[in-house]
Amino acid sequence: MPQESSPKTLVMKFGGTSVGSSKAMAGAAQIVKEARANWPRVVVITSALSGVTNLLLESAASAARGDASLLPEAEQTLLANHQTIAISLIPDESRRAAVLEEIGGLVRSFVELCHAISVLGEATPRALDAVASLGERMSVRLLAATLHSAGIPSKYVEATELIVTDDHFQSAHPDFDLTTERTRRALLPLLEQGLTPVITGFLGATREGLITTLGRGGSDYSAGILGAVLPADEVWIWTDVDGVMTADPRLVPEAQTLPQISYSEIAELAYFGAKVLHPKTIRPVVEAGIGLRICNTFNPQHPGTRLVPNGKAEKPLPGEKVIKAVTAIRQQRLVTIEGRGMLGVPGVAARAFAAVASTGTSVPLITQASSEQSICFSIPSEAAPAVLGALQKTFAAELAQRDIDRVWASEDVSIITVVGHGTRHTPGVAGQIFTQLGKAEINVLAIAHGSSDVSISMVVNAAETEKAVRALHELIVR
Ligand code: ADP
Ligand code: ASP
Ligand code: MG
Repeated sequence: MPQESSPKTLVMKFGGTSVGSSKAMAGAAQIVKEARANWPRVVVITSALSGVTNLLLESAASAARGDASLLPEAEQTLLANHQTIAISLIPDESRRAAVLEEIGGLVRSFVELCHAISVLGEATPRALDAVASLGERMSVRLLAATLHSAGIPSKYVEATELIVTDDHFQSAHPDFDLTTERTRRALLPLLEQGLTPVITGFLGATREGLITTLGRGGSDYSAGILGAVLPADEVWIWTDVDGVMTADPRLVPEAQTLPQISYSEIAELAYFGAKVLHPKTIRPVVEAGIGLRICNTFNPQHPGTRLVPNGKAEKPLPGEKVIKAVTAIRQQRLVTIEGRGMLGVPGVAARAFAAVASTGTSVPLITQASSEQSICFSIPSEAAPAVLGALQKTFAAELAQRDIDRVWASEDVSIITVVGHGTRHTPGVAGQIFTQLGKAEINVLAIAHGSSDVSISMVVNAAETEKAVRALHELIVR
């Protein structure tokens, strides 16, 4: 817990849309200004402008295929997007020119990196991180100068100086001890001077100084990490919706904001596809006992969603249902290993999951097998060829002897997850879920319970994803 004597510290993270246009970034600056009036110490973390990370990674992928033809257009888009915001929010010409000069330098490194990738004909995970991290390295400069122009003394800091990670490029894991030491050493003096540090989300660096990223959507995680190590009193995630909602509002327009949600509920929701919070954000924040809030940059008066300890959320608010939210992960395949001879084969499951792990694939869901003669689990669709290959190799002998008849992957499916304390143990809830899916004529291919008492997941055909989410959402709002 933060020490009593240290001044209150607030960490605020702005997502890509929250800084993606002049209007949005002006709103973000206003939010920081108000926070500065109420909190002695404010630390800001920002994502790249919306669309930038995708553009960077798509350009690197084309370059790896030997196609550099779209690079000039990508270069122009990057320059123009940052320039438009700089022109409208940084009136001081010399400050604006200095920022655009630095951003121009980063855009040039992007072009050089992509050319190098196209010559090699390959983009290694390390090269992809060097490219992907450029988005935040650009936005952080723009936002710090914008804050300065709005009268908020600030300084940009690249998280390569703060967050030390392993070399698992594209999904790096922080070393919390080293990160604590470096973060405090770099940020506390700035905070003591009354400056607002503006820090790149999404990235870190190895001990040797190689740039890494924390995984797509990882700026939320950056906020969790930095909030925990400072330590902050609160972490607020500013995004483009009114907090955590009963479903993705893009899928279910009548979705409603949840005023509060427990740590374990949000963990299940985030793990099973709700993009609103990166699933890794939760653990450091819970362990450090820090308050977490999710709010809307475009509707800052709305209280958003408060994360609350698990015990508290068990007392539902008036009118709250057992089922709190429903979410979906798309583009999954169900892999089945089957054969009547499997009963006698030792360690099939252990060997199967070791084979899957050897491809670097994670398994979001393992289903209850209908008999002991098969094992069934889901994997991301794009991993299917590698996973099937690894399984066939591992079980080559059993397949040859027909102890295992078949290892196969389904067509694309989706995992639909219903989240809420007591979903599993409250009588009648499971019945309601399956009745509702039955009424909507949705075929459930597999079922799995979450690791805690907070969720139930069902696998449905890809084409029925939206229908299933909407049908189950009716159980919440009606
Ligand atoms: P940011 O760039 O701010 O990190 P993201 O796009 O990563 O924003 O996450 C916010 C988006 O998450 C929302 O626009 C919404 O479409 C989506 N989302 C998915 N599920 C939920 C949910 N249950 N509640 C709120 N938003 C959700
Ligand atoms: N810009 C990164 C991404 O798009 C990180 C983030 O936005 O959280 O994945
Ligand atoms: Mg996000």
